[in-house]
Amino acid sequence: MSCEMKEKERAGVINPIFTCQPAGAQYASIGIEDCIAIVHGGQGCVMFVRLLIAQHLKENFDIASSSLHEDAAVFGAVHRVEEAVDVVLMRYPHVRVIPVITTCSTEVIGDDVDGVIRKLNEGLLKEKYADRDVRLIPVHCPSFKGSQVTGYDVALEAFVQTLAKKDKPNGKINLMTGWTNPGDVTALKHLLSVMEVEATVLFEIESFDSPLMPDANSVSHGSTTVEDLIGTADAIGTIALNKYEGGKAAEYLESEFGVPAIIGPSPIGIRNTDIFLQNLKKMTGKPIPQALVRERGIAIDALTDLVHMFLADKKVAIYGHPDLVIGLAEFCIDLEMKPVLLLLGDDNKTYVEDPRIKAFQEKTDFDMEIICNSDLWELEDRIKNKGLELDLILGHSKGRFVSIDNNIPMVRVGFPTYDRAGLFRHPVVGYAGAIWLAEEIANTLFTDMEYKKNKEWILNVW
Ligand code: SF4
Repeated sequence: MSCEMKEKERAGVINPIFTCQPAGAQYASIGIEDCIAIVHGGQGCVMFVRLLIAQHLKENFDIASSSLHEDAAVFGAVHRVEEAVDVVLMRYPHVRVIPVITTCSTEVIGDDVDGVIRKLNEGLLKEKYADRDVRLIPVHCPSFKGSQVTGYDVALEAFVQTLAKKDKPNGKINLMTGWTNPGDVTALKHLLSVMEVEATVLFEIESFDSPLMPDANSVSHGSTTVEDLIGTADAIGTIALNKYEGGKAAEYLESEFGVPAIIGPSPIGIRNTDIFLQNLKKMTGKPIPQALVRERGIAIDALTDLVHMFLADKKVAIYGHPDLVIGLAEFCIDLEMKPVLLLLGDDNKTYVEDPRIKAFQEKTDFDMEIICNSDLWELEDRIKNKGLELDLILGHSKGRFVSIDNNIPMVRVGFPTYDRAGLFRHPVVGYAGAIWLAEEIANTLFTDMEYKKNKEWILNVW
């Protein structure tokens, strides 16, 4: 019995698990109110990412592109940033924040985005928009390294580096949710509210579960304000739920302003939600109220109904964002399932030092493989050619054909999940998330039992 961690051994990628860094920076940007990002690159760097995010959230929102053409590769294109900032500000009088997100092409050209932002701050913004408080944020996303995950992390760090400013203590905690769904934010806010903890929820996308109102306004935007970001330096502490999606920003606030940081674990499952509540208690001194003990009890009761009878020993493959994959694997182990294959889709060299992965290596009592820099072929190849037997796949919609082609049931989780209705509304975090995940897994297995006529009669007598 072992837990082996290794890199994908092939060159090239077949059916990638992630897209590139600017996608993560764009996802972070939509969590800011009065913000429209400008992606400094070819139009496709926005078009396809925006489509993916819109497919996932089923909402409409604005992101701009500096829209480079061939001449930019020879002569550079910072003038396109200057024009784009002017156009966005002219067209959208409410805009207060413009992240300028670089891409592979503009990083290779060597466009001086920090320099052009200094020039715009001293020139255009003072001369033409002196009556507006506009913040330009340079976000460097060379997409020939890292992934959408590092892009999200880098963007959060750039936002707090540019905006956070010490004033007087605000008595709040900073909560960096990581790359979550609106339903996760609702679940987290519920826990904070029951604990009576005042928090600044950062890069807050709860409002992307938007109503369609009589005035037919169908453009969504996030809820974190410029003032929220400035005030992060005055918080009593930061909790970054996901190490790889907000950890850098939390560390920056700690080192620059002395705001203590607790990084992780993602509150997926009972034990990680318990740790999150303990961390809130440690940071604020607020007790964990009986109401949450009761919610925990309801979750444990729901899981107990399922674990021994239906979930125990089921073999699972999980792919997606590292904090999500690790959190799901921990939860599966608590449910007595066997996460035999974990696929992490980028080349982050620090995964090997992650204490949660070390814990798998020390404690796992079944054979588990963790593949870094992985793609979906690593999953498909093992199923088709190497005899891997699975009872379940957990991952985003890009892997749906592995499930369909091989008749393996799948629970959609992560980003993007566009082929099932309303998943963005259901949390995977907190006690509510534990219930939803376990019951979704169980119901998916039940449907599979029925279609395959595999002990489906048990459901008659359960
Ligand atoms: S890889 Fe480069 S060109 Fe392609 S979408 Fe990403 S940033 Fe744009």
